[in-house]
Amino acid sequence: MSVSILSIGELLVEIMREKVDESLDKPGTFVGPFPSGAPAIFADAVAKLGESSGIIGTVGEDDFGRLIIERLKKDGVDTTYVRISKNFTTGVAFVAYFFDGSRKFIYHLPYAASGRISIEQLDEKYLSGVKYLHIMGSSLSINEDCRKVCQRAIEIVKKSGGKVSLDPNLRPELLSVEEIRKICQPVLAMSDVVMPSGEEACMLTGIEKTFSACEKLLEYGPEIVALKQGEKGSVVFTKKGKVEVPSFKVKEVDPTGAGDCFDAGFLVGLLRKWSLERVARFANAVGALSVTKKGPMEGAPSLQQVNDLLNSA
Ligand code: ATP
Ligand code: MG
Repeated sequence: MSVSILSIGELLVEIMREKVDESLDKPGTFVGPFPSGAPAIFADAVAKLGESSGIIGTVGEDDFGRLIIERLKKDGVDTTYVRISKNFTTGVAFVAYFFDGSRKFIYHLPYAASGRISIEQLDEKYLSGVKYLHIMGSSLSINEDCRKVCQRAIEIVKKSGGKVSLDPNLRPELLSVEEIRKICQPVLAMSDVVMPSGEEACMLTGIEKTFSACEKLLEYGPEIVALKQGEKGSVVFTKKGKVEVPSFKVKEVDPTGAGDCFDAGFLVGLLRKWSLERVARFANAVGALSVTKKGPMEGAPSLQQVNDLLNSA
């Protein structure tokens, strides 16, 4: 068996501050654990949109690990290649949200099961059926093993005619900008699609103006750059020009996961061979719905919810 859309990387639980503006450097209340990890949110969103989806990653043999696997399975994600490590515990992220919309994370991914992904988890037959392999900068940031696994998976998928997409998903908490730029570069060169935020496009290219940075990204290899702009929607760049696609009006409760859900919608749309404008509109709807619930994966919408929003606008 194989899946159309595959992601690789960190599975973790997120423990979040209950209220906005409660920093992590003093006692306070938390809620969670919520299943999380950018590649896991992405895989879950793809499955909920009705496309076959899988993830390669590692959890610990503990309740947090079971919580993530159970959720992914329930939503239809293939977890055959999620390894359960006996020696490491499941990754945890603590998150605080602030009034200005910023977030702060404390991670220990390099020391948790999340970072124990190995080449043996790659099944060539499984990978060779994949149409889109989605790689995230956050996974590349974990450690050398994670980078090697992603690189090898990219080679296998590309050799079999599949495509690669990259969400730079920069986490300055994990690595410096220079280091992130260096490790994203080889993946960027092999990618067909890149889906950055404005800040990420600027950081990756060293160019200050967002649109110019996205145009520059096209020179590095990808045919499509989908710029995510939060409540402003998205802009799709190709060598032929750009299409700006407005967002949907929703009440934002928790922004985490919007980018991953957008990525899921975008690749599902590309797989359906829709026009880029339709693809971006669909992805915007998936991203918009995802912010209406508290918890990173909780807002990933069903296809029905997305179609309802698209039809209501
Ligand atoms: P993250 O990395 O935190 O998941 P991101 O920066 O990669 O986020 P965003 O731009 O925040 O991604 O969100 C992705 C997409 O989701 C946007 O391009 C937009 O279409 C939709 N979206 C996000 N936030 C909102 C919002 N408040 N209202 C409407 N749509 C939104
Ligand atoms: Mg992002």
